[in-house]
Amino acid sequence: MRVGRYEIASVLDGFFALDGGAMFGIVPRPLWEKRIAPDARNRIRLAARCLVAVDRDARRVVVVDDGVGDKWDAKRTDIYAIDRSGGGMDAGLSRLGLSRSDVTDVLLTHLHFDHAGGTTRRGPDGALELSFPRATHHVQRRHWQLAHAPSEKDAGSFFAQDFEPLQHSNLLHLVEGEAQLFPDVELIVSEGHTFGQQLPRFHGDGSHLTFCGDVIPTHAHLRPSWVMAYDVSPVTTIEEKKVLLAEALEDDGVLFFEHDPGMAACRLREEDGHPVFREAVDL
Ligand SMILES: [Zn+2]
Repeated sequence: MRVGRYEIASVLDGFFALDGGAMFGIVPRPLWEKRIAPDARNRIRLAARCLVAVDRDARRVVVVDDGVGDKWDAKRTDIYAIDRSGGGMDAGLSRLGLSRSDVTDVLLTHLHFDHAGGTTRRGPDGALELSFPRATHHVQRRHWQLAHAPSEKDAGSFFAQDFEPLQHSNLLHLVEGEAQLFPDVELIVSEGHTFGQQLPRFHGDGSHLTFCGDVIPTHAHLRPSWVMAYDVSPVTTIEEKKVLLAEALEDDGVLFFEHDPGMAACRLREEDGHPVFREAVDL
């Protein structure tokens, strides 16, 4: 799909699973299980879907979030039902004619393991190394600080091995708040799911595409009150989601879903004054 100067594609790093109840907060199971059915351990299957944006004129290849990665021991592979049988990020990039060394920028919405897990991997000698050795990695400064001193509520979502090697590299760019990072790419900073989550919005042709990150993880989360129990501030997520929905409705924008197991993106329509799902968009 083209949005302005960018060719935009969806790359699946893999699938994983989280507790269905935690994914839908206060929504009762009889309602959410009709949308995404849980397994015998009450988990729902989720995608670790990344976005790749290529600006050929500027020779820029941007990866937005890099999935769960491959540093999984047997115990956690089981707990999170890690499934990278599709070949992960490498296979996805190669389908686009790209490899890791072509990536110039990695934009990390935040550093939870299901978003930044692919930032590092183990080299032949077992040492951690950066997976995208030429790329500048963009993280909000406040979020970077939080990741090093998380609250008890979200400490379990940060694995230091995913991002610590960035610290002493010269490939870390700490972003201060909302910014225009690249031409026609604006960063929206969100505080509901975690502090300093950054969501890129690609502008072009009078419309836009927004990477919804953990503000709207799947199309089953389009209703404003359907927010995750993981969120540090669910009321803030609701307000932020309403803004994203209203803006997408206004200029027929596309919403990109990082965790939706079956749909990369969608467009909206209006029903009784509210933005609701209209159609899936293939990427
Ligand atoms: Zn997530």
